Amino acid sequence: MEKLDPKEVIKGFEELTKNAGVVQEEILKKILEENCEAEYLQETALNGRTDAESFKECIPLATHSDLEPYIQRIIDGDSSPILTGKSIPTISLSSGTTQGKRKFVPFNDQLFDNIVQLSNTSFAYRNREFPVQNGKALVFIYSSRQFKTEGGLLAGTLTTNVYCHPKYSGLMKGMQTQSSSPDEVIFGPDFHQSLYCHLLCGLLHYNEVQFVSSTFAHSLVQAFQTFELIWEGLCSDIRDGILSERVTDPCIRAAMSKLLKPNPKLADMIYKKCSSLSEWYGLIPELFPNAKYVYGIMTGSMEPYVKQLRRYAGWLPLVCADYGSSEGFVGVNVNPRSPPETATFAVLPNIGYFEFIPLNEDMNGGFEPKPVGLTEVKVGEEYEIIITTFGGLYRYRLGDAVKVMGFYNATPELKFLCRQNLMLSINVDKNTEKDLQLAVEEASKLLEAEKVDLIDFTSHVDVSKDPGHYVIFWELSGDADENVLNECCNCLDQSFADAGYVSSRTMGTIGPLELRILRRGTFHKLLLHSLSMGTTLNQYKTPRCVGLATSQCYNCV
Ligand code: AMP
Repeated sequence: MEKLDPKEVIKGFEELTKNAGVVQEEILKKILEENCEAEYLQETALNGRTDAESFKECIPLATHSDLEPYIQRIIDGDSSPILTGKSIPTISLSSGTTQGKRKFVPFNDQLFDNIVQLSNTSFAYRNREFPVQNGKALVFIYSSRQFKTEGGLLAGTLTTNVYCHPKYSGLMKGMQTQSSSPDEVIFGPDFHQSLYCHLLCGLLHYNEVQFVSSTFAHSLVQAFQTFELIWEGLCSDIRDGILSERVTDPCIRAAMSKLLKPNPKLADMIYKKCSSLSEWYGLIPELFPNAKYVYGIMTGSMEPYVKQLRRYAGWLPLVCADYGSSEGFVGVNVNPRSPPETATFAVLPNIGYFEFIPLNEDMNGGFEPKPVGLTEVKVGEEYEIIITTFGGLYRYRLGDAVKVMGFYNATPELKFLCRQNLMLSINVDKNTEKDLQLAVEEASKLLEAEKVDLIDFTSHVDVSKDPGHYVIFWELSGDADENVLNECCNCLDQSFADAGYVSSRTMGTIGPLELRILRRGTFHKLLLHSLSMGTTLNQYKTPRCVGLATSQCYNCV
């Protein structure tokens, strides 16, 4: 098995990024040549041309709904060249992010290669800063099984498709740090059992664990919140060498029995460490003394979990994972020492063709601003990102807003700003996920004196009565004073700074904001519901806008 040479990977990335402009032109040419037979391209006036100018002139910007009829035919088993020259073998299910509607997108060998490249680049830069020698990684990963669509195509989440790819074991698995959990745990049918065993496997290999990771900060926090509740049970399994009966899956039990031997010394050590911690601060480095960092996506909608994660990580650095989506990958974190608040992603110029629509630009005469190329973006400006991929998406609006923070050689380094879709809107007000996040951040500062943490939050637009109003739902770690909660409610109302909201509130065309406090465990139930609908924990993001629920409410004054 070929070993990854980080120096070679970094050298390759340096070359690519120095020539980002030329590489982009070549990639567009390659994508258009390979797929010139595709119906989607044939329907346009492109006529086999592969230059950027003709491409932009002939191919319209597209949203997912524009492509849905094409993708549906692929799912139904039509193997003619629809979006790509070669037929699509696999479908990925995206999380659908904020509003919960899952999307189907094509997945093929080239997208797999893109992910391998991105992941190896990221690993090389991380390893340069935080060298990891052999050892293992405690990775909270939950992969479901692939299934077949009615048309006979394989389908699964992106993670599942990557894990199940025939080249996966030979490539990625051989090159990077191995998970401390066996495949039976990763592919387990029930996430509670997998999580339990991930924790157990990590503890059994406590001295070898070099870093702790998961796709999202949310699942890391969730794993250690669970640890707080079950650590004594884990200790007794280790002491007796007998796996808890809560793990019922026979494959997982068989795999775990090979690892678990009675080890009272280890159980005592873990017990002592856990009993001495104050509020679980520094739990991760206490349990895994050789861990160098904690790794996962901590930007965008994961920012609200960073505070809780820092408590568990103690003095270990939090390293942000890369930026991509089921549709296609975008950028890699080449500055692993940057904290989540300032993390950026350098675009990999050979994994797709990228365009950027300037945001905040005057809509000169009502026309949409013209997209610019990868090397034409300006530092300090904000853009909507457009991708053209080897998976048959052409000028596809990913729906994300990014800000250019600088350049790595000739490729931009992007800060992820937010999903662009509007979430809270009643009349002229427009508030995005980011606006909600900022308002919640501001108001939750008032909880600090109460020594209560905000566990999670979501929102709803209530237009059942006129005027409509925003409802914000909070789950807290303990009880807070009523007056403080009323203050939080007022603060939320005043923190939505967009002019539409402010003027509508003044004129009374939007009613007073309502803060509802949810029962403990509500967000966990929401997660379980989402898992029961087929999402995997790797993909799960708390929906930031939902339907109604019953809860205790505070109205702002
Ligand atoms: P999915 O639809 O499940 O493939 O999720 C893809 C979306 O997750 C992207 O379009 C982004 O909105 C978000 N995302 C992915 N990576 C990051 C990141 N590193 N930071 C912030 N948001 C991200």
